[in-house]
Amino acid sequence: MENVNYNPKSLNADEFISHQEICDSLEYAEKNKNNEQLLQQILDKARLEKGLSHREASVLLACEIPEINEQIFELAKKIKLNYYRKRMLLFLPLYLSNYCVNGCVYCPYHLKNKHIARKKMTQDEIRREVIALQDMGHKRLALELGEDPINNPIEYVLESIKTIYDIKHKNGAIRRVNVNIAATTVENYHKLKEAGIGTYILFQETYNKQSYEMLHPSGPKHNYSWHTEAMDRAMEGGIDDVGIGVLFGLSTYKYEFAGLLMHAEHLEAVHGVGPHTISVPRLRPADDINTDDFKDCINDDIFAKIVACIRISVPYTGMIISTRESQKTRERVLELGISQLSGGSKTSVGGYAEPEKEEANSAQFDVIDTRTLDEVIQWLLKRGYIPSFCTACYRAGRTGDRFMELCKAKQIHNCCHPNALLTLEEYLTDYASPKTLEIGRQVIEKELSTLRPDVRETANKWLTAIRNNKGRDFRF
Ligand code: SAM
Repeated sequence: MENVNYNPKSLNADEFISHQEICDSLEYAEKNKNNEQLLQQILDKARLEKGLSHREASVLLACEIPEINEQIFELAKKIKLNYYRKRMLLFLPLYLSNYCVNGCVYCPYHLKNKHIARKKMTQDEIRREVIALQDMGHKRLALELGEDPINNPIEYVLESIKTIYDIKHKNGAIRRVNVNIAATTVENYHKLKEAGIGTYILFQETYNKQSYEMLHPSGPKHNYSWHTEAMDRAMEGGIDDVGIGVLFGLSTYKYEFAGLLMHAEHLEAVHGVGPHTISVPRLRPADDINTDDFKDCINDDIFAKIVACIRISVPYTGMIISTRESQKTRERVLELGISQLSGGSKTSVGGYAEPEKEEANSAQFDVIDTRTLDEVIQWLLKRGYIPSFCTACYRAGRTGDRFMELCKAKQIHNCCHPNALLTLEEYLTDYASPKTLEIGRQVIEKELSTLRPDVRETANKWLTAIRNNKGRDFRF
């Protein structure tokens, strides 16, 4: 059936996330989920590692044939390795304020929650928190704020970003500040760009407009179009790198999956560059939120399949997993497509420099993976991954389409690999426990031998400089 409403190039949310197109795609997927010939054709296309359309990907997601699902997982692992090798970027969320005027029914920061502790950090408190994060070894932050024009105006966000970038403490530095704030104006996005943010992150929560409006009954976030068209405004404001995602559990996952890929296709069609990252958060219990009230929560097997299908559909888009997931789940999906993860996170406002008192809990949701950053790094190293704190591309101006070109040509290895090793060495020299240091150095030695001789020589020189405290922040 021809779908007159669907237009990936439109700037109207109802047209680029066309409900009819999603329904048609899901119907097509359902009809073909056991169509071996078609499934093999789609897999053959996916093996070219140039991605799939939302409709093709929906058929793979719906597939119920075990042998074909096995091939999907194997292909996801292969693509992951081809594009990212074993590098894993580490970041940390920093909640600046949990004041919020919205009524999101899944989030304990909603306006009507009168018993959660409301906090907003002062610049001095931010400084103290960031020093604590630097002492853990972090270099990349994601700022998180509730939406509240009075308590959290854009000026507060900008001032906080400046405070964070300005902190000089021992060998520490926050080199990339990503920002997750509510949908805003082109003018404000431009200000964020000028402040030097890395990625602008905004989760769609759900692409199903009807569910969206019910789940966001009040406040500015109720406006589905304003929220869904935010990334277009961000790009108009000059932000090259945007991160999208849905909160799995709010609506049916097949619908969300198709919507997510349509959003990526739309950004590529209009701006010539797709999302920099896709996050895959799952709903978690929280202060006054009970996940039993949400009938669309997904199990671990479906979650793994979603990660694998996203990986093969948009091979060059980074994928992020948070501490909403357990060590076991993270282990499973890392190899299926994840390229960035958080470690040592807290979802309270502050709480890094000094743990929160129980009676003043400001946390957004319960974290499952509560290991320290050092434990996470050691675990990654033992599993053959290369933990990385690299921010080189962003600081060399390789953002947006310039980064994507590198990535699509699979050229990121030539600079990403040594850069990852250099930032790992910074962590090992400055912050690691003796055991992590020992394992990390072994990994670095092994990986050095895989580099081109001229790159290896320079990398070796810089590694020695880091170890002898003769410099930091070297990059290719
Ligand atoms: N206020 C901003 C906005 O409207 O996008 C920032 C959002 S919030 C600090 C970050 C994300 O946490 C939300 O986009 C939502 O997806 C997620 N979140 C909210 N409640 C959650 C819950 N109970 N479990 C897991 N994630 C949750």
